[in-house]
Amino acid sequence: MTAKVIDGKAFAATVREKVAGHVARLKEEHGITPGLAVVLVGEDPASQVYVRSKGKQTVEVGMNSFEHKLEADTSEADLLALIDQLNNDPSVHGILVQLPLPGHLNEDLVINSIDPAKDVDGFHISNVGLLGTGQKSMVPCTPLGCLMMLRDHHGSLSGMNAVVVGRSNIVGKPMAQLLLGDSCTVTIAHSRTKDLPGVVRGADIVVAAVGRPEMVPGDWIKPGAMVIDVGINRLPPEEEGGKGRLVGDCHYDSCAEVAGAITPVPGGVGPMTIACLLANTVTACCRANGLAEPE
Ligand code: NDP
Repeated sequence: MTAKVIDGKAFAATVREKVAGHVARLKEEHGITPGLAVVLVGEDPASQVYVRSKGKQTVEVGMNSFEHKLEADTSEADLLALIDQLNNDPSVHGILVQLPLPGHLNEDLVINSIDPAKDVDGFHISNVGLLGTGQKSMVPCTPLGCLMMLRDHHGSLSGMNAVVVGRSNIVGKPMAQLLLGDSCTVTIAHSRTKDLPGVVRGADIVVAAVGRPEMVPGDWIKPGAMVIDVGINRLPPEEEGGKGRLVGDCHYDSCAEVAGAITPVPGGVGPMTIACLLANTVTACCRANGLAEPE
């Protein structure tokens, strides 16, 4: 079998197109422009790339982008004061604090100071609780993007066996909640899981969110399963001064031989994450203004 390759780049483009349509309607019919504020503390190079990309795509779909770049030694009080200001700014509908934060800042405290209605990353404890109890919430962007690709491929996920490898608060746990919400039978695997290959072999859906290059080989995959590879890992450069190749948490070639469908790295889950962030911002804007939400 050769897997169908899920083109996350093309899928993300269709999501952004829909978002742009909603933004245009909000402007024309209601005179409202959705706004996304992104806060970056310090100069982590990967975070800088993500923030630049988020800002660019926010503007491309017609929304306002507010970027706040703070020094690495910014005090917690100053950061909380900025978040308070954004919470109270009616032109800001979504707030994202880029993680990781420098070590002297308490991430939980900072995230939980964001107004849950503007928490477009879905990391606020209120949104985590709402998702866990099946209520309307802000859904974390990466798992949301994975769910959209799964639904698009399968239609209904009801009754499928899903294994999520990784139990982080930003990917693994919310992914498992979403799959449960779609009536999958869900197993969450992690570093202490016994017989991980055996666990993965029972899955119709495998979501790998581990952060270990090419850890899941093809012979762990049940024939015909759908493989969603969240991992983004850069291998060491092959030549001096070169740039290492980007790979996922799954060994792509061997998994693609067995799976029914697979997301590549790059070009799979990654592009969907920012597209879902934009979609969440439009949702937050509609809710703030008492308007019908996009589906
Ligand atoms: P974390 O490091 O927070 O979590 C990794 C999880 O993997 C942990 O639960 C850990 O288990 C588990 N794990 C580690 N080693 C093993 C192992 N040998 N066997 C089984 N489980 C293991 O990572 P994140 O969830 O933040 O990210 C995961 C990956 O996804 C990374 O590569 C990251 O770059 C990528 N990512 C991609 C995004 C995108 O937009 N495409 C967005 C966010 C992340 P334990 O809890 O027991 O330690």
